[in-house]
Amino acid sequence: MIKIEGLVQGVGFRPFIFVCAEKFGIKGYVENRNDGVMIEAFAEEFAVYEFIEYIKVNSPAASEIFSLNLQEKDFCTYDDFVIQKSSSVSQAVTEISPDIAVCDSCLEDMLQQKHRIDYPFINCTCCGPRYSIIRTLPYDRDKTTMSEFEMCETCLKEYSDVYDRRFHAQPIACNNCGPVYKSENTEISSFEAILKHLRDIINSGGTFAIKGTGGFHLGCNAFDVNAVSKLREIKKRDGKPFAIMFRDISSLKERVYISKHEEKALSSWRRPIILLKVKENAGFPHGLFNDLDNVGVMLPYMPIHYMLFEQINIDALVMTSGNISKEPVIISNDYAVKAFTDKTNAVITYNRDIYNRVDDSVAFVVNNKERLLRRSRGYAPSPIRIKQDLEGIFAAGAELVNVFAIGKGEQAILSQHIGDLQNMETLEFYEETYSRMKELFLFDPKIAVCDMHPDYLSTKFAKKLGIKTIAVQHHHAHIASCMAENGVDEPVIGISLDGTGYGTDGNIWGGEFFVCDLNDFERKFHFEYLPLPGGDKATEEPWRIGISALHRTFGDALFEMDIDLVKKYENKAHLLVQAIDKKINSPLSSSAGRLFDAVSAILGLCCESEFHAQAPMLLEAVIDKSEIGIYNYAINGKIINFDEMFIDIIGDMARKTPISVISAKFHNTIIDICIRIISILSEETGIVTAAISGGTFQNRYILENLENKFKNSHIKLISQSKVPSNDGGIALGQLAIAGKRRELKCV
Ligand code: ZN
Ligand code: ZN
Ligand code: FE
Repeated sequence: MIKIEGLVQGVGFRPFIFVCAEKFGIKGYVENRNDGVMIEAFAEEFAVYEFIEYIKVNSPAASEIFSLNLQEKDFCTYDDFVIQKSSSVSQAVTEISPDIAVCDSCLEDMLQQKHRIDYPFINCTCCGPRYSIIRTLPYDRDKTTMSEFEMCETCLKEYSDVYDRRFHAQPIACNNCGPVYKSENTEISSFEAILKHLRDIINSGGTFAIKGTGGFHLGCNAFDVNAVSKLREIKKRDGKPFAIMFRDISSLKERVYISKHEEKALSSWRRPIILLKVKENAGFPHGLFNDLDNVGVMLPYMPIHYMLFEQINIDALVMTSGNISKEPVIISNDYAVKAFTDKTNAVITYNRDIYNRVDDSVAFVVNNKERLLRRSRGYAPSPIRIKQDLEGIFAAGAELVNVFAIGKGEQAILSQHIGDLQNMETLEFYEETYSRMKELFLFDPKIAVCDMHPDYLSTKFAKKLGIKTIAVQHHHAHIASCMAENGVDEPVIGISLDGTGYGTDGNIWGGEFFVCDLNDFERKFHFEYLPLPGGDKATEEPWRIGISALHRTFGDALFEMDIDLVKKYENKAHLLVQAIDKKINSPLSSSAGRLFDAVSAILGLCCESEFHAQAPMLLEAVIDKSEIGIYNYAINGKIINFDEMFIDIIGDMARKTPISVISAKFHNTIIDICIRIISILSEETGIVTAAISGGTFQNRYILENLENKFKNSHIKLISQSKVPSNDGGIALGQLAIAGKRRELKCV
């Protein structure tokens, strides 16, 4: 008996096993169960071993074998090898496949297979929608949103033929029986006419909404200034760069820089958005990504994307999440029609429901490794496996870019990207996804773990569940997330440079240097506290933080100095300083993110922020990478003090030093602090592993250079890759900490 666990359902595994069995003369059966794939294989012993070796090497592209266990069994007589119907047997759960981009064989079939010529929902056992359409397990057609489409005779024949590429492809469909596209509020009926309609809209500078795999996209010609600004208008107060879909790799290479590893990540079956550096003469309008030098790029992943590019001569389309303001990406046809009919030139839907919302995933590549920033379509709900018992633990996640997680055995199953839990719609999405995952993965919650922040909606949700709750410090969770993903379970030096997190002293933390393990942490050093006048408002208006930082260093002398930022905000700055002095709504923060905000504002790069982390992103975008200088700073006891740095920055500005050089020196200073503190703490404790996590490590310059510094060192630096280092990774850390505390009987 062979039991295989891993990503083995919905990826063409059973038919693959069937064909292998035939090849090696194996008798018996293969069966999907909710805890994996079970094979009974009878043959000469060597044939069984050859069979297993063959499976390991040749398994289907999107499958992933985690464990393969062999058990001897008494001989039974089977006449042949068969595929048995799926059965549920235990509380253990197999993996659910993420959604898979359309494969090359299907794209070929679209040109020649009679009943699938130009069929835009073509798929096979190796490709097509999965998690987005799955209601419950085991993965069979009647448990997906394909259930209402009855297979035609031809499809049924293929579905039942084990030698066919579509054997048991649950979403199998064709022109005669499958889902169809619809152009809402128009008379247009044929698919061909819909494509031509979209072509005309794109060519004439219009915008459109189109239903994708896990949610709607808003799109237009990426080179059209007016169309891009119309999209900005629709997305409202969101100045974030738009993601772009390129026709293919070669057209993309003309306009962005791309390395081999980036190309590999971009073209994988997961099809994430990858952040790439734009070439100077790429020809994109400024409004596409404002002053940032990186753009989120993806390749077509649904048949209609490919077909659309065939209709037009344009190599890149904006394909940004179709949502309103801060709500989650829209998945319902009715809601999309309501939201976009008056605002765009076309709303294109199809009549198969998206059950689980999965936004596009986002990643970048540093030091040849893919780093996820948003883990959603193509990744969720694949588990992260860690060597810890996580059964029954629910981790609520943080507040912004929320992802929650559930523990099943040694698997951490992270939800798809939920978003910022600050409006009703996102909170509903959170609660709904929790109850669905609970059912889907047969999850029985025993412990809920949440952030220490009492006001986070995720914290409130966890406390409402009526089970034991554990509150975990935000940055401890960041470091634990990094440790868990890297399989580390001994004390580490933990550096969490971050935006915002509730500290044990009630202040806002975020420039933290710990010695910690999965159970507990000790705060060894931190950035000096800075008042944030206006509280939350200060995060949206970095000029406030700039003034606060200058006031901390120069006191009231600041108003006699020749500083652009002070002059620009002269009147307001006086009131601001009064508020700081009187401690009115000026919470203290050691956040690294706010330090970046301050410098960005002082350099005049970003005084008022249009979207989260814009100020640090703009600061990173201007770095002169040839500059190796650093600024002075002081370590006074546990506190890292930046007075000398701000004096030098103001001096550099007075000397008209280019801001690209100042930005580089500032970044180099942060890197230097990390290196120095790692060395101090390593000497003090003998620990030789350092874990880095937190939103600031989305800064590629810092991540790359810091990692390179430790390449040949006796100290091992670990960072995040599979899970975001931003708050989207918090839930994994919460799970690991709760698992450890339960193991140590601390809870
Ligand atoms: Zn396919
Ligand atoms: Zn059919
Ligand atoms: Fe954080």
